[in-house]
Amino acid sequence: MALIVQKYGGTSVGSPERIGNVARRVAGFQAQGHQVVVVVSAMSGETNRLIGLAREIAMDPDPRELDVVVATGEQVTIGLLCMALHAAGVKARSYTGSQVRILTDSAHTKARILNIDEAPIRADLERGNVVVVAGFQGVDERGSITTLGRGGSDTTAVALAAALRADECQIYTDVDGVYTADPRIVPQARKLDRITFEEMLELASLGSKVLQIRSVEFAGKYKVRLRVLSSFAQGGEGTLITVEETQNMERPVISGIAFNRDEAKLTVLGVPDRPGVAYRILGPVAEANVDVDMIVQNAGHDAATDLSFTVSRGDLGKAVKALEAARGEIGDLVVETDSSMAKVSVVGVGMRSHPGVAATMFRTLGEEGINIQMIATSEIRISVAIEEKYLELAVRVLHQAFGLEQIPGAGEGANHR
Ligand code: ADP
Ligand code: ASP
Ligand code: MG
Repeated sequence: MALIVQKYGGTSVGSPERIGNVARRVAGFQAQGHQVVVVVSAMSGETNRLIGLAREIAMDPDPRELDVVVATGEQVTIGLLCMALHAAGVKARSYTGSQVRILTDSAHTKARILNIDEAPIRADLERGNVVVVAGFQGVDERGSITTLGRGGSDTTAVALAAALRADECQIYTDVDGVYTADPRIVPQARKLDRITFEEMLELASLGSKVLQIRSVEFAGKYKVRLRVLSSFAQGGEGTLITVEETQNMERPVISGIAFNRDEAKLTVLGVPDRPGVAYRILGPVAEANVDVDMIVQNAGHDAATDLSFTVSRGDLGKAVKALEAARGEIGDLVVETDSSMAKVSVVGVGMRSHPGVAATMFRTLGEEGINIQMIATSEIRISVAIEEKYLELAVRVLHQAFGLEQIPGAGEGANHR
């Protein structure tokens, strides 16, 4: 007998019929003798609808009250799924985040889980119940409802699996695993049987929304066995996220490609070229709570230089305001903005031992006439900022250039150009 935490995303519970299918799948696991804890998202489109409703009332809603509103989406699904389980003859009980007591900090709309009281869940499981928990939500010390950021149900599932020391955490979604690139953009993308935590963390942080990044961090930290699978297909092993790298000599240099459309670029022109200036520009931006992603300082001329950096599109206005406020200190700043940027990244632990990945990436983009505006690297990834209109083309040509559609070792020169 195993203890399994299963999470079903929005599309998987998107209609009463699909909730019925989930109930049958869960009943099947229980019938095999397993204890099952189910985490569900809101029905597809529901979280967006609730955020839209809030924005009709207030453009910039109070975060505490916004959490009260958006957390209702998941509360509907837990009740409906329990009813469907009862109809299938399975004992089931629902819990909101605050009923479990998933304790979080008070950072509304992006709260972090601090502690989970798993005793009531264990007791229910011992009594033969399936336990159904609302994803994406918790409660803070003061009893206020909090939410964990978009895609946060993944993190609820992994955190519960860690707290319960579950045998496996299964993330059921609308694709049958983690692919070499988003299969919606690259039809030739290939499903990976395994991927390392390190690579999955990079992919998630660089834009692959198949798993919320915090869920991957949690799984790595607490050694949760994590698997991504399809809620629609029967059978299939999905993708296992593992600690070990494959010892296979044929393992590819690049494992996947991620992208993010949500980038905006700011260029500060004619910045005095002297020590401390980057801090004076980026300091106020950080103080305004805006995360800066890529940074480039151009070659100086006449004791002046240009500094460009990217922020997420939603933060562009805040970043510009912060720079305006800093004007007095640094002198007259001319700021140019471009809100139609995108970032494409290639990721792979094999990069450590294979030089030449950057050259292949830059050559491939150059041959397509795609201008690289910024570059950032880590040991296992290379990211470039490009114009958004070239994004899909860039992802597809890079996928081909790195031979990602081929099974490693099966094709000629796969991945080793
Ligand atoms: P859920 O509602 O089940 O949480 P999400 O929409 O959050 O589902 O995540 C699944 C989606 O992630 C897929 O439909 C796919 O378009 C997208 N995706 C992005 N990158 C990848 C990737 N590398 N592999 C698989 N899916 C990806
Ligand atoms: N319903 C939330 C969202 O749409 C959480 C989730 O689905 O994981 O972001
Ligand atoms: Mg998701």
